[in-house]
Amino acid sequence: MNRNFKTLSLAFFALITNIVFALPPCEYKDVITPLHQPDHWAVSLLDVEYKLPADYVPTNLVALTEAGFNDERFVKQELIADLKQMNEDALALGHGIDIQSAYRSYAYQDSVFNYWVDKEGMDNALLTSARAGHSEHQLGTVLDFRSVDGPAPWDLEDWAETPAGKWMSENAWEYGFVMSYPKGKQEESCYSYEPWHYRYIGKEFAAQWKTMNDATGMTLREWLWTQKP
Ligand SMILES: [Zn+2]
Repeated sequence: MNRNFKTLSLAFFALITNIVFALPPCEYKDVITPLHQPDHWAVSLLDVEYKLPADYVPTNLVALTEAGFNDERFVKQELIADLKQMNEDALALGHGIDIQSAYRSYAYQDSVFNYWVDKEGMDNALLTSARAGHSEHQLGTVLDFRSVDGPAPWDLEDWAETPAGKWMSENAWEYGFVMSYPKGKQEESCYSYEPWHYRYIGKEFAAQWKTMNDATGMTLREWLWTQKP
């Protein structure tokens, strides 16, 4: 199909979808997400309302060394090939990427969230961290990135303004990774801007999301809502 025609028809579809489908507001609930089996990883909707069961553990966890990082933490095997390629391409362009955070279990996320509550108070913690079960990191398909030899990305004004972060924001989707919480989209994504947090949904879904994003600015949360039964 002609690419322009395809983009136009998808834009039209997106317009219709937006009329029929109103994205629910960010309400803090604890509902088990409908697609919560391990093989649903690409389309499991997690936000402030929907969560994973406490005993959800991803299948096929492997160490990040498999993707060429000097890092023993875990991710799902399914994203290794694309992550390895993305890492090599970033390095070849002279702005290597590294991993700040990888798979996080339910129990670990619980301690992370409570740390932020103690440090910054509940209201701020809810915008910058996920309650246990609600974190995409529990899927094993999410990584927080930083620049090689760089500081923690949240210690910078805007990591997406660095060479590595900017390249990721423009190109990560081609490797199947989508920035979950983009700039200026807090009302839609329910979290404050996180230029370092990328979720792997695979190249095919990421390309579908990208087309919708180009046409309407659709965030990943909105796209996942459209995939939900
Ligand atoms: Zn993250």
